[in-house]
Order: sequence, then structure tokens, then C-alpha cells
Amino acid sequence: MPRILVLIILGWLLYKLIKRLATTADANKPAKKPEERMLQCARCGCHVPISETQKKNNQVICNNPECQA
Ligand SMILES: [Zn+2]
Repeated sequence: MPRILVLIILGWLLYKLIKRLATTADANKPAKKPEERMLQCARCGCHVPISETQKKNNQVICNNPECQA
């Protein structure tokens, strides 16, 4: 009865493949966006990534239009 053996091996390979895909997908998630310094907006108090902030009158302000006014 070699057929059942083939099925077991195929199932095991599939399991390994899915497991590897799942782990690489997880590993890629944090690598996509490197950790960025967070700054607190002086107007609304939100913590935003440094790339989404501006400096106005020595104050850190986020890109929110209400804070820009
Ligand atoms: Zn703000």
C-alpha cells in the first residue's frame, strides 16, 4: 500500500510549505516599515512618525490640517 505513504508525504510537504509561507509573511511585515521615531504633536497631542511632522515656531506639528492652521 504505497499510495497512502505518498499521500502522507505530500501532506507533510504541503504542511511544511504553508508553515514556511506563514513565517516568512510574518517576518516580512515589520521589515517593510522600519521603526521610525515618533513625535508628539504640540497641537493635538497625537504621536506621529517623524516623517509626518513639521516644525513650526519650534513646535512639532502633525500633518493634520487642523493642526496646521
Ligand atoms: Zn496634531
